[in-house]
Amino acid sequence: MRFAKMTLKELTAPGGYSCSCGRRHCCEIRYLDISRGAIRNLPEMLRTLGSKKPFLFGDRNTFEAAGKAAEKVLDEAGIPYVSYVLPMDRPKPGEWETGSVVMHFDPSCDLLLAVGSGVINDIGKVVSHATGVPNAVIGTAPSMDGYASNSSSMEVNKVKVTLYNHAPSGILLDTEILAKAPMRMLQAGFGDMIAKYIAICEWQISNIAAGEYYCEEVAEMMREALRKVTAGADSIPVRDPDAIGAIAEGLVLAGIAMAYAQISRPASGLEHYFSHMWEMMALERDEPYDLHGIQVGVGTVLTLRLYRHIRALKPSREKAEAHMRAFREEDWEKEVKRVFGKTAPEVLEIEKTAHKNDPKEHALRLTRILDNWDRMLEIMDKELPDPDWIQEKMRLIGEPMLPSDLGISEQDTLDAFTASRDIRAKYLTSTLLWDLGEMEDFKQILHEELEALAKEAAK
Ligand SMILES: [Zn+2]
Ligand SMILES: [Zn+2]
Repeated sequence: MRFAKMTLKELTAPGGYSCSCGRRHCCEIRYLDISRGAIRNLPEMLRTLGSKKPFLFGDRNTFEAAGKAAEKVLDEAGIPYVSYVLPMDRPKPGEWETGSVVMHFDPSCDLLLAVGSGVINDIGKVVSHATGVPNAVIGTAPSMDGYASNSSSMEVNKVKVTLYNHAPSGILLDTEILAKAPMRMLQAGFGDMIAKYIAICEWQISNIAAGEYYCEEVAEMMREALRKVTAGADSIPVRDPDAIGAIAEGLVLAGIAMAYAQISRPASGLEHYFSHMWEMMALERDEPYDLHGIQVGVGTVLTLRLYRHIRALKPSREKAEAHMRAFREEDWEKEVKRVFGKTAPEVLEIEKTAHKNDPKEHALRLTRILDNWDRMLEIMDKELPDPDWIQEKMRLIGEPMLPSDLGISEQDTLDAFTASRDIRAKYLTSTLLWDLGEMEDFKQILHEELEALAKEAAK
């Protein structure tokens, strides 16, 4: 079976599919519509989901963009509903906003209908999980891949956490509405999509180095989505609904891919960890941070530029073993405490299951890496685009490419790179470099790439 050639309807078929990887893949989405004028199909979505009275919620911007249009469609169809607009323009994914939606929820409603994109949809997932009321979403921007995913990215006690709940049962994305989203959100969607090049590459590297599960069919589905998104990229600045629709479809496919694989691998690699780290640093300092996809786009440029050097690398067992012998647990702990501040204890705890600093585990991984280096190079050649080519597209869209464009310092970027291997028990490109004893050299390379990027931008 070929997921890459299937329609969205086929991909979301109840029951799912048995796959050549040995697993059965399915997702929880029961209604999915990405098209021009899709908002008029809202009554059909409600019928499919068995909803007689939805509870619409969003913020001031998202209600302006799609909430009012949704109410009009419901009024015309004679469908009762209750609406609640959060009293702000850009709500945070925090306790206050989530609590506010819960307090205004009308228990006579049978569906939580989020009107918005990242944050609003994530709040819907959390409230649905807590109340048992099903949730669906009317999207307002193709800005991130969380529409179809089963997780939400929330701030709990000022710490960014991923909460696993469940994906919305219904997703309605009207490409004419999405095309009117702020340009920054379209850029963010493009940024979150191009990350998939690295995600698919790194997934296979982890499969080799750490023995992680991998599904080629799911990977191919993401490659196909990337082809469509990059083919339409030139029409993003003129807000062509079909080009914007390709981004929306790619982002929803990423969510389906994650549900199929039951891990975030098909959609997220080291580039996402730059973003996670920058977010954690901002939260620690009580500073604002940029849209997820904007940060991820910058992380993608940095990671692709690092891969240019990885592809030229001649791995050395001596260098890797000397690095492991020189490793001092106390120094590593000190470094984790410096970078992570109050979240350091949780980060240190992760090592107990990750074993990334354990010499025995390191020796096993190192042998697998050295024995399979040619295969890894083939994967990098096949999966990764030339960074110049991607940057050209980003330039056309006006998308930020440098951490300094987002007000992020070089020190924070270097710290984000080296500490990325510590925040989850996940095998990343940075873990690979650490295993090869190349971390210090690549910190220097990253510094030089940042300088080169700044020079390019100044031209
Ligand atoms: Zn599979
Ligand atoms: Zn993402």
